[in-house]
Amino acid sequence: MIDFRSDTVTQPTDEMRAAMAQAAVGDDVYGDDPTVNALEAFACNKLGFAAGLFTSSGTQANLLALMSHCQRGDEYLCGQQAHNYKYEAGGAAVLGSIQPQPIDNEADGSLDLAKVAAAIKADDFHFARTRLLSLENTIGGKVLSLDYQQQAAALCQEKGLKLHLDGARAFNAAVALGVDIKDITRHYHSVSICLSKGLGAPVGSLLMGDRDFIDRARRLRKMLGGAMRQAGIIAAAAHIALDTMPSRLQEDHDHAGQLAQGLGEIGALKVTATPTNILYAQCQLGREQELKQYLLERGILISAGKPIRLVTHLGISGDDVARLLKAVADFYRCH
Ligand SMILES: *Cc1c(COP(=O)(O)O)cnc(C)c1O
Repeated sequence: MIDFRSDTVTQPTDEMRAAMAQAAVGDDVYGDDPTVNALEAFACNKLGFAAGLFTSSGTQANLLALMSHCQRGDEYLCGQQAHNYKYEAGGAAVLGSIQPQPIDNEADGSLDLAKVAAAIKADDFHFARTRLLSLENTIGGKVLSLDYQQQAAALCQEKGLKLHLDGARAFNAAVALGVDIKDITRHYHSVSICLSKGLGAPVGSLLMGDRDFIDRARRLRKMLGGAMRQAGIIAAAAHIALDTMPSRLQEDHDHAGQLAQGLGEIGALKVTATPTNILYAQCQLGREQELKQYLLERGILISAGKPIRLVTHLGISGDDVARLLKAVADFYRCH
């Protein structure tokens, strides 16, 4: 099966599986797992933070960030399309008593900083206390510019807000911008990173920040049941993902570009490309379910959204891209 549904479907490499089998482990709740400790230290260096925390998922890393920055009755500003508003089951509100204040995303995925500034509430007991701005990069495959992130950081500095990055795919953003990941992360008080998407680890995310912040997050991780014991087994694969996989993401972006171009030429689809590994194709004839079924019978998995979202990753080769293009062209020729 060729799977274009998401970069979360990536399988661990042989090198990851070997590292998992051989990993030195200890009880990470005691701080005794050398493989987890090595991963967190490596991440501090690579991402430019004083402290880091290995988490079970990106959702958990984001929730810990929101709860570590905000108290009950505080509020965070984010996009209407933000993963940590829309796709995380309302966790910040349910578990943190933190009020989201969503703001419409602009077409490029950013939040208009004038709208952000206008949404910051005055110090008045009628209002929740605005504490945090949360951005996402990449967002729907789109990349926030360094300039924009710099301006967002300056606004937060001026208004006394913390700034969090949901950087599930921040390495895709760094590759698309042609910069070091630290050129992005240095604008933020905290960053979450998914290791289990395009970077190919089977499990795990990271939350990065200063020491006090990560101490608070570690306590909350325990509270949420997310403190794991011999977690070095999964951290071993995560370490390889963080170390070796960012440098191959350009290949995924190239494949997405080829796919966007090829699908555009077929004509029946309205294609929206991004600079990274995600693209969208709107079926003009409303046949996405039929197309999905047709492709499934030919060994290709897609999700039949409106629009269809296609994602490239390390399990997708140039030949796989060609196979999808041929199958889609055949479908529209005969249907
Ligand atoms: C996938 C994703 C997450 C959540 O990660 P999980 O590991 O699936 O919980 C958070 N933010 C963004 C932008 C994501 O794409």
